[in-house]
Amino acid sequence: MPPDDMRLPPPRRSLGQVFLASGRVIHRIVAAVGATPQDTVVEIGPGRGALTRELLGTCRRLVLVEKDDVLAELHAQRHADDASVTVVHADATRWDLAEVLAPGERVRVVGNLPYNVGGQILFHLLRRRERIDRLVLMFQREVAQRLAARPGDRNYGAVSALVQLRTRVRPLFDVSPERFQPRPKVWSAVVEVVPLEPTEDRLAFVDAPAFERVVHALHAQPRKTCLNSLADGLRQDKARCESWLRAAGIDPTTRPCNVPAEACLALFSAITQDEAEGQV
Ligand code: SAM
Repeated sequence: MPPDDMRLPPPRRSLGQVFLASGRVIHRIVAAVGATPQDTVVEIGPGRGALTRELLGTCRRLVLVEKDDVLAELHAQRHADDASVTVVHADATRWDLAEVLAPGERVRVVGNLPYNVGGQILFHLLRRRERIDRLVLMFQREVAQRLAARPGDRNYGAVSALVQLRTRVRPLFDVSPERFQPRPKVWSAVVEVVPLEPTEDRLAFVDAPAFERVVHALHAQPRKTCLNSLADGLRQDKARCESWLRAAGIDPTTRPCNVPAEACLALFSAITQDEAEGQV
């Protein structure tokens, strides 16, 4: 343990602080990032620097984004003489990636994310997906499974549809609790997320918050039929919801997990069209 780590306070559970303690896992994550000496890498939640140490020297520029005051200060001091490292003391669920980038600069993102806000951090980062080449992120395993699930899979839900309309998700590997200090209660998993090209991005021209409300409503009650889940979620009458589902080619009696992400776009378009006609 380096001397400065000995002065550190105990891990903060509230910030999801479980630190990687396996050289092999660290090495596999850094290899998956695949940075070259021309790249900028953003690490979310560097913690005590387990991944950071191995990322240093793999890229042209390294940006560290840490919410914990003490750990952010630790990195600011540790890297004070290294112009290739930028330390940002911020909450990654709100921080704007573009703030630290030069015009046209693109990044690779890596992080062993805090369990409680991992999904939130991913979706927030994806608002700037046009600046991101690839993300290699560790989540609680159940979250990773939901991100990568395909239609028909029992884990397939709103999160799967919303991420897969913007990106290609590839599960990489699972990580057992013994690989961390302190040990979490659950398994983790690493996934690669690659934003789609603007020409393939199905959400580039959609009112994202309104669309997300519809997708969340459709999937809110996974054990119910699409019709019941949508009608409850949007607080709309069933006849109207049924006509929207049929217009989108979705069987109203099927379960939400069977609805492909593209059909959600058709559903949203049926709803917005119907609402627009109602206003004329
Ligand atoms: N990368 C280190 C490792 O693998 O050992 C630490 C990983 S630990 C699971 C998560 C890290 O994210 C912690 O350093 C924690 O303080 C930080 N963190 C928690 N919430 C955050 C947030 N909203 N924004 C930025 N960092 C956050």
